[in-house]
Amino acid sequence: MLGLMQYEQLMISDFIVHAARHHARAEIVSHLAEGIHRQTYRDTELRARKLAQALTRLGVKPGDRVATLAWNTHRHVELYFAISGSAAVVNTVNPRLAPGDIAYIIGHAEDHVLFAEVDFAPLVADVVGRLPAGLLRTVVFLCAAHALPQVDLPSGIDVVAYEALLEAEDGDYGWPRFDERSASALCYTSGTTGRPKGVLYTHRSTTLKAMAMNAADACGLRAVDRLMPAVPMFHVNAWSLPYAATIAGTSLVMPGRFLDGESLYRLIEDERVTFASGVPSVWLGVLAHVRKIGARFSTLQRMAVGGSACPESMFDAYEALGVNIIHAWGMTESSPVATLSNPVSGVDPATARRQRLSQGRVLFGVDLRATRGSTEVPWDGETSGDIELRGHWVATGYYKTPPGTTPDGWFPTGDVGVFDANGFVLLTDRSKDLIKSGGEWISSIDLENIAMGHPAIAEAAAIAAKHPKWDERPVLIVALKPGATVTREELLDFYAGKVARWAVPDDVIFVDELPHGATGKLLKSELRARYADHLVRAKTPGASPD
Ligand code: ADP
Repeated sequence: MLGLMQYEQLMISDFIVHAARHHARAEIVSHLAEGIHRQTYRDTELRARKLAQALTRLGVKPGDRVATLAWNTHRHVELYFAISGSAAVVNTVNPRLAPGDIAYIIGHAEDHVLFAEVDFAPLVADVVGRLPAGLLRTVVFLCAAHALPQVDLPSGIDVVAYEALLEAEDGDYGWPRFDERSASALCYTSGTTGRPKGVLYTHRSTTLKAMAMNAADACGLRAVDRLMPAVPMFHVNAWSLPYAATIAGTSLVMPGRFLDGESLYRLIEDERVTFASGVPSVWLGVLAHVRKIGARFSTLQRMAVGGSACPESMFDAYEALGVNIIHAWGMTESSPVATLSNPVSGVDPATARRQRLSQGRVLFGVDLRATRGSTEVPWDGETSGDIELRGHWVATGYYKTPPGTTPDGWFPTGDVGVFDANGFVLLTDRSKDLIKSGGEWISSIDLENIAMGHPAIAEAAAIAAKHPKWDERPVLIVALKPGATVTREELLDFYAGKVARWAVPDDVIFVDELPHGATGKLLKSELRARYADHLVRAKTPGASPD
């Protein structure tokens, strides 16, 4: 027997309609090159309707993919809602990728219309030159008509100013309703292993995910909050936070392209930000600035950190500044957030701290397990296994490629971790980054965390280097803070008592800077390619970079 409750398809346009109606005066603040821009959710919804009309005029039909190369601003929010809301698919492209990869993504997605920031004009010209002729019909620069950049594009591609597009429309547009399983957004993985792969979200998965993100033990956004997503909207939909904010009526403070520590700190203070989100490297930059000027935070209370493991030293530093870190884990294939580390009651302080430093517990709506072979490992805080995921916002496969899940429906993440008795998962590694020494596994994340706790270290990576006796041994590669010094021996001594003796790295390599991928993660594959033979060929320990 069916129940007697109203039934509607879950639509992304409902978020912005709700925000405009019930949180009309909550605002989106954007740090643009020309200064600070403000507009309310009511204005945002009206502009999104005009944009939806303009998309129709540009020939965009339901199911068509539309590309963005854009920073976090009110215009990117409008694009999210107008494109998905009008039944097309927003394909957010990461401008930090190599032009060849960007062209691959636009070609693979078959985007006919591209919305791009003015500062990406040279990149757009480069990328368009690599695309199949005739694919792209229109490039819309995110600016006013008078600011349209000079860009040399093949004939047949229209170049339009975003504000001119909107000015031509009256906003008389009704958001359509359609199957909630329709595609809404297409995000590509960063392609550190092979070509980028497309993950295709739905209206349903995005709605359920955004609602789950607003649970109190997730991010718990409220109408009184002011959220600054420093995680880019071109990276896994800024972890769904722009969606979650509109549902909660939370004002958004958008940093645009100004992601350095000083600019972010200024914006947090000037705009009274209470909640922020981003990868550790961004928050390390803010921390360095705050320390340099001896400042504190006047309004910032909470911060979601993820994308790579939150260093313990950074966690402690923010706690001391009165900011609570919520450590989050996930991947593009899981929209991305699957776990968050909020505290539980009834555990001793040491356990509570360990749990908060872990990647956290799973959100209702997805499930998680760690397996060895085909068996789930016990939640004993010791036995590690391959982490697998399933749930409402987990991918079944990649766009235009065969399904990627295991036969019983669990998605293999490539991460390795252990569960404690409360279900907190501690990631020990990416399976390909684990170090196996004499048959024992060594966690590269552990070794990096300890090194990052040393006052002289700006950033550290631990990799497996080939070893004639032990097969692999850990080698640490470090970049020092400006002006800081530390010797190889001092750094290795720093591990005493913190890990088993056999887990202490064999050597330290000092470099000026560590390589990062387009999403800010350490490029360990590049380090492995360079230093895998380090121990075999190094004659003197602590030798300079190979
Ligand atoms: P995102 O960076 O948004 O999480 P990606 O798909 O680019 O999404 O990368 C996913 C991978 O990043 C995960 O499989 C995991 O290896 C790593 N990762 C994400 N969050 C964390 C975290 N909190 N701690 C450790 N690694 C993480």
